[in-house]
Amino acid sequence: MIGEVTNVQKGMIEVRSESGEFFRCLLRGKLLQKERTEKNVVAVGDRVLFERLHKDQGIITEVLPRDKCLVRKGAGKKGRHLHQVIAANVDQVLIVVAIKDPPYHKNLIERYITAARGSDLDVTIVFNKADLGLSEETKADIQKYRDLGYRVFLTSTVSNLGIEEVKSALQGRSSVLAGSSGVGKSSLVNAICNSNVRTGEVSDSTHKGKHTTTSSQVHLLPDEGRIIDVPGMREFAISGTEGLDEAFEDIVELSAKCRFRNCTHTVEPGCAVRQAVANGILDERRLQNYLRMKTEV
Ligand code: GDP
Ligand code: ZN
Repeated sequence: MIGEVTNVQKGMIEVRSESGEFFRCLLRGKLLQKERTEKNVVAVGDRVLFERLHKDQGIITEVLPRDKCLVRKGAGKKGRHLHQVIAANVDQVLIVVAIKDPPYHKNLIERYITAARGSDLDVTIVFNKADLGLSEETKADIQKYRDLGYRVFLTSTVSNLGIEEVKSALQGRSSVLAGSSGVGKSSLVNAICNSNVRTGEVSDSTHKGKHTTTSSQVHLLPDEGRIIDVPGMREFAISGTEGLDEAFEDIVELSAKCRFRNCTHTVEPGCAVRQAVANGILDERRLQNYLRMKTEV
């Protein structure tokens, strides 16, 4: 069967078949070996051939050739060259920011743009929450990005301003979603894809804070086109100290409450960051990403 990878997590690969069924797959021996040595053998967005084994389980026998990918490049651990495929078969990066609540950081937008252009992908920027009132400064920023040649939309998922425009800009394209949490990415995807992504408003105590970072998803547009929402997109563009703290301001904020001022959030007693992970407020993977990136810079 042929399918598309919709999630990769700890060796478990979720594949959606052409008929829309989901399978939990493993890599066949040869591919698994390749993954161990070369990495990046399979990524979200890849088209694969797989065999159904049992019920919803399968084994991937082949990864089909890729079109453009969003790749994170840079200096890895111990000076090794880092080359990580974030999403496969994409043609643009959809950067979502909010005009306020939370405020956008131009620095972070620049980094996403740099990453997109570095992978030869188009850039579309959405300034969401327009209903909260547009400042002169934001108007000027929007104009600046338009002058630079990027497609920029002003939207509100509350009033539906700009939603149809964004929809048509995404139609028939394969976009990877970038943006901090809380800016309205899930709301936007819901408005555009008629799929059902949980937004920040839904509070389900058993899954608290889970939906934000643990699951990669590929959302299909009504006609043609898709939006890939990969965990870690918020972090990937940052490859220097600059911007790191902005991208992880929740962790920075928590760390102010650690018992030790120079807490590394690994072994120290009284660590507010690890406490937040234990309480389910902070995602473990997000903390690991943060710590990894800090050691990389
Ligand atoms: P995500 O973390 O980027 O996926 O953001 P969510 O879609 O979960 O939205 C975060 C919060 O912002 C929720 O409380 C939404 O209701 C709210 N929100 C989303 N879009 C808008 C908007 O256009 N205007 C306003 N005022 N609030 C919005
Ligand atoms: Zn700590």
